[in-house]
Amino acid sequence: MPPFFFDTHAHLMDPAYLPDLDQVLERARDAGVVGFVAVGFDLASSDAAIALAAIVPDVWATVGIHPNRAGEATDGALARLEEMASAPRVVAIGECGLDFFRHHATPDQQRAAFLAQLAIAASAKLPVVVHSRDAMSETLDVLGGSMPTRGGVMHCFDGTTHEVTRAVASGLHVSVAGPITYRKDPTLATAIAAVPAERLLLETDCPYLGPQGFRGQRNEPWRVSIVAEAVARARNVTVEEVGRVTTDAACRLFRIEAPAR
Ligand SMILES: [Zn+2]
Repeated sequence: MPPFFFDTHAHLMDPAYLPDLDQVLERARDAGVVGFVAVGFDLASSDAAIALAAIVPDVWATVGIHPNRAGEATDGALARLEEMASAPRVVAIGECGLDFFRHHATPDQQRAAFLAQLAIAASAKLPVVVHSRDAMSETLDVLGGSMPTRGGVMHCFDGTTHEVTRAVASGLHVSVAGPITYRKDPTLATAIAAVPAERLLLETDCPYLGPQGFRGQRNEPWRVSIVAEAVARARNVTVEEVGRVTTDAACRLFRIEAPAR
């Protein structure tokens, strides 16, 4: 059986895909991608993710406010997000978290928006998609006291084995994206080798983070297969095995019925 994959973090609503989203999705299916999670980063993109998931059977949606947009997380916006959480095919809250690399919102705004979305995830009984940049330790500190019961995923993980251990202990899954294909330092590969198979996910974060050979281009979900190959090398297993365990983990985390393949 050819390998299959689940792209757990794709910004399919990005204007970059307006001309040819159908072909982008078809190329991914041809490469073995059996499902996509369309991730919202503000109210408009979250609405668009719900709308896309309503018409494309292998797309599911998340709703959330990215830490760079934390200034938009007013009481009204958070109330709207809580309503959107109960829309059909919404499988998680996020992406939300902390980003101390960019300073589009203050740390206090970011922490408040993150905590509010963790509370929404808890009350909606959904997992959370976490974005953390230059803020891993603080992000894990926040989650330590406020992790929703359904857990969540640290998306685009780019840290150490110690951080994997902390993330997994807190109830998080660990999702791997393009950076594993271009890190020469073995820290990330070593960390990814330490993730328990049942907590490991794959993603592209497209249209961002093209893997090696495609950096700087519009990324596409089919390239999750390239991420899978790098993960297979890091863990010394086959790409088929990586595809199978990460697809199973995605279906369990997001409570998606395993797609036919
Ligand atoms: Zn993202």
